[in-house]
Parts: sequence; C-alpha cells; structure tokens
Amino acid sequence: MLLPMFGSHLSIAGGMVNALVAARDLGLDCVQVFTKNQQQWAAPDLKDEEIAAWRRALVEMGWAMDKPGNAAARRDEAPARVVSHASYLANLASPDDTLRNRSIAMMVVELNRCHQLGIPLLVFHPGSATDSDPIAGERRIVYACAELLAQTAGHRTVLCLENVVGAGSTIGREFEQLARMREQIIALARGGNERVGFCLDTCHMHAGGYDLSTVESATRTLEHAENTLGLVNVRCLHVNDSKGPVGSRLDRHAHIGEGTIGMQGFGPWVTSPQLRSVPKIMETPKGEGPGGVDCDTVNVARLRASSRGEPVTITPLATPQTAKSQSRNPKKVPVS
Ligand SMILES: [Zn+2]
Ligand SMILES: [Zn+2]
Repeated sequence: MLLPMFGSHLSIAGGMVNALVAARDLGLDCVQVFTKNQQQWAAPDLKDEEIAAWRRALVEMGWAMDKPGNAAARRDEAPARVVSHASYLANLASPDDTLRNRSIAMMVVELNRCHQLGIPLLVFHPGSATDSDPIAGERRIVYACAELLAQTAGHRTVLCLENVVGAGSTIGREFEQLARMREQIIALARGGNERVGFCLDTCHMHAGGYDLSTVESATRTLEHAENTLGLVNVRCLHVNDSKGPVGSRLDRHAHIGEGTIGMQGFGPWVTSPQLRSVPKIMETPKGEGPGGVDCDTVNVARLRASSRGEPVTITPLATPQTAKSQSRNPKKVPVS
C-alpha cells in the first residue's frame, strides 16, 4: 500500500531538473515547482535539453506519469509526483480587460510548460475582484478557466483552484465558492471535469476561518471539504502551519507544529485514506535549524510521524538562528 506522499516547494535555480535532484536528496515523495520566474510575465521557452534532462530524471526516479485515466484510478495507480504553482501575477478575476487577457495568455504558457514537462497538476490562486462586484469576479474566473481548457484541448494537466485566506477582495476562501466555480467551468467547457480540481492549503483554511487547531475541528473541516468539494477532486494539499490565528486572514506560513494549527490539526488530513495518494506539499520557511539540519527534513519528519499516528516532540526551528540564516538569502521569495 502506498504511504502518504509528502514533498516541498523547491527551487529551479540553475535548471528545472535541480528541483528533482533536491527532492530525491531530501528523500521526498513529491515536489512543487515554478516552471518560470513567478515574478515576471514573460519567460524564455524551455530548451529541448532542459526538457530532456527533466524527463530523464522523472523516469529514473519512477515519477514519470504517462497513463491517462479517471481521477480516482489515476491517483492510486500513478499518483501525481510533481505539481506546478502558477505565477502570482495572474489575476483571472480582474475587471481590467488588458490585465485579465494578459493573465489568460500567461496561464496558457504555464499550461504549455506543464504539458512539455509532463506535470499533471497546475495550482493557481483563483484571483481578486479588486474594486468590482465579487460575483462578477467569480464569473470572470469561470470563463477564463473554460478558455484555458479550450486553448489546451488534448492536454492532461489539471487546473487546481487553490483556497485562499480571503484577504481583501480575493476569491476562493469558501469551499462552497470553489465548488461552484468548478461546476460552472465544467458546464461551460462541456466536460473537462477530469481537468479541474482543487488544492487545499491548511494555513489558508485556518487563517481563512476553518479552524484546524484541534483534532475535532480539523475533522469537521475535512468532512466539510468532502461534502462540498468532494475529496476525490482535491488533487493537492499544501501543508503549512499558520502564523496568524484562526480567521485572521493572514497568509503567513509557519513550520509544521509551530504555528496556530499545531500537530493535532494536521492529523486528520495526513491520515485520511482518501488523501493518501495526494501530494502534500510544504511551503514552510526554508533554511537550517539548530545543528544545521535542513528545515524541510525536520518538517517532513514531523508530518510523517503524524501520518503514522506517532506523537511529535517539537524542538522549534523558528529560532533567531533560523531568522539569521534566512536573512543571508535575501533573494529567496516565500511561497504563498
Ligand atoms: Zn499554498
Ligand atoms: Zn499562503
């Protein structure tokens, strides 16, 4: 039986394949990457050598994914090992046509890169209505996604709407809203239900008002997700603890077990049989903890212990030493 799959968002600096090499060195089961600079609209085309090196590494690691199939079957037989996170610049809900069209064009590029690299999941933040009516914003996201599916017909990459904390006029905090958007996209695209799913972020749920701080409240939230979204449609989890308290709408990720969620709240999510073969990606702070150990190594060990039902003793990573080692890397951009 497949064990629960844990991974991390890793850097592609120096070449796409470096993220796979790092994932292997860290002993991870899956990985998330940006396939282009997430702070820029344009990206140079992927080079043939870069794609070949990436695909070779996927095969060597047993992570290549070429079998189509229905959502449930594919998850258990060949679980998704690689997730792409789209650039934060895109806003499919923008009332500004120029910005929205630019966002759609960039998302097509994101999907094309996933297609070239054999990446089965593309996670993105649905968007922000800015100063416009939120329902109109939601509709713009739906139409944009149907357009993306049409422009990439024949591709297999699944668009995963990620839940957000709901700061300002951002769309996608409530499960009901995410579920409604998915249904409408599928209706508009006349099918395509295999290519629209969700990514749930634990920090975003908690800071967005879905309490994950106890086993009971986290279980209730998991059941609510099953009843609204359907866990079969949850294709990816972002496992992050939260710096902000429940309902704070603060999108700040903390080390696993060191935030306002705590180890208890992760339990139901990392032990759920329905989510076992779903990639669980950490977007927790990078750097080294006491003794020079990689923070990802410590955080993933905590999650794995929790998934086995074992108690976890926390020696905090969030020490002044960690803060110092991070400040030596001013170029590192946190993933949200
Ligand atoms: Zn996330
Ligand atoms: Zn976040």
